[in-house]
Amino acid sequence: MKFTRRDFLKTSTAAALAGGVGLTAQPQVQAQTASQPTVKRWYKGNMHQHSQWSDGDPLPEWAVDWYKSRGYDFICPSDHNIFQAGDLRFNSSGTKPTMTAEMKAAFKGETSLWKPMQCETINNKLTQKVVDQARERFGADSVRIKKAGGLTFVRMKTFDELVEQFAEDGKFLLIPGFEQTGSCPDKRAVHMNFIGVRKTFKYIKKEDPVDTIRETLAAGRELYADSPFLFTANHPLWKFYDITPSALIANSDVRFFELCNNGIHRDYAARDDAWEPEHFWDAVNAFRALADVPLLLGMGSDDRHGYPDGPATKGWTVARAAKLDWPSLLEAFNAGDFYASNGLDFAEINFDGKTLSVKIDAKEEGDYRIEFKGTKKNFDRTRKTVAVAAEATKSADRLIETFSPEVGAVLETVEGTEGSYTLKPDDLYVRAKIVKLPRAEQQDWRTGPAAWTQPYRG
Ligand SMILES: [Zn+2]
Ligand SMILES: [Zn+2]
Repeated sequence: MKFTRRDFLKTSTAAALAGGVGLTAQPQVQAQTASQPTVKRWYKGNMHQHSQWSDGDPLPEWAVDWYKSRGYDFICPSDHNIFQAGDLRFNSSGTKPTMTAEMKAAFKGETSLWKPMQCETINNKLTQKVVDQARERFGADSVRIKKAGGLTFVRMKTFDELVEQFAEDGKFLLIPGFEQTGSCPDKRAVHMNFIGVRKTFKYIKKEDPVDTIRETLAAGRELYADSPFLFTANHPLWKFYDITPSALIANSDVRFFELCNNGIHRDYAARDDAWEPEHFWDAVNAFRALADVPLLLGMGSDDRHGYPDGPATKGWTVARAAKLDWPSLLEAFNAGDFYASNGLDFAEINFDGKTLSVKIDAKEEGDYRIEFKGTKKNFDRTRKTVAVAAEATKSADRLIETFSPEVGAVLETVEGTEGSYTLKPDDLYVRAKIVKLPRAEQQDWRTGPAAWTQPYRG
């Protein structure tokens, strides 16, 4: 969303009232006073997932239930280029049946998206098994089916119907949204989530991802002028270094990105001669801090398309809010009061304007480590362009910029579950990353459970 000067002051005032750090738009401090207690708690969510509304495997109710039954507090079913609205449709990502007038007549008076089940002429993952599974779980009449023109169509439940079926006050929240999906030239997949919105718009394809991102956000601000939303730059590593740090250094209005996308990034071993998402993050923030513009904040998501049995959740975002509703979550996100996870959780994150203190919510026995990472004011600004040859099946060759290891260096390490770091005069910012040992087996963020606070400035 556009974080205007007014919003900035509003958030800062709220932070100040809550005992926060005032005019820095920093993650606010959790503080309480006897006269005005601010009771906030952590809420766990996933704001990037897919169902049969686009190219996810299961029916939409299965996808929502999957997260609800695994203890999530909020989700955003963010399908590709479509919102789960009630207007009658037959096309979405993955299937394009040819509808004759006769076939269309069979759907007179119907609403929502109807997708044909897998058949020889249509590339579609929707199978009888998926339908049977949903009927078994939600009741024999829970899925509507209609035959027309020799095809068997299945009706997708709308967002409002999913809210009706699953939302519970204070317990489970569904947030509307979609993933703006498309590619720039050179096969660059530039995907962005709009979270908190119900309208979609045509993908804006520019020569360069920098312009694509800038114009997409501008178009969103115009379209959603009256309702605040979150805008995230998704999976920068996918398919092959498609969004570069430079794109988000140039677009300092973009406040959120997927630091950790477990649907996609986990399959990609970052190359030694390029960046990986954590280094991407620090590169952006080192240069943003120098320019004194808002820092980039990191989200964790599953970008889930397949929904296996068992726990299997790994990427999530946890926000600290007074209530489980969209305005409260939005406030938390805009204040940077959230963390990204790849399997671990924080019990506490506090920043008093100078010192960042964290405590790990150690659910399992084991050895934990806290790494305070950041970038010094005098860091090596060298940005080198390197040619990265495409790996088979991935994408095109790339010319990408790389950054010095002084960007996002480890400032201090604490062995244990509690630690703090006080900003030094030469620090641009500090953030904390927590990992579970043995560290030797965790060469980077993909190989072991971790969680990350947002970056904090003094
Ligand atoms: Zn995507
Ligand atoms: Zn996605």
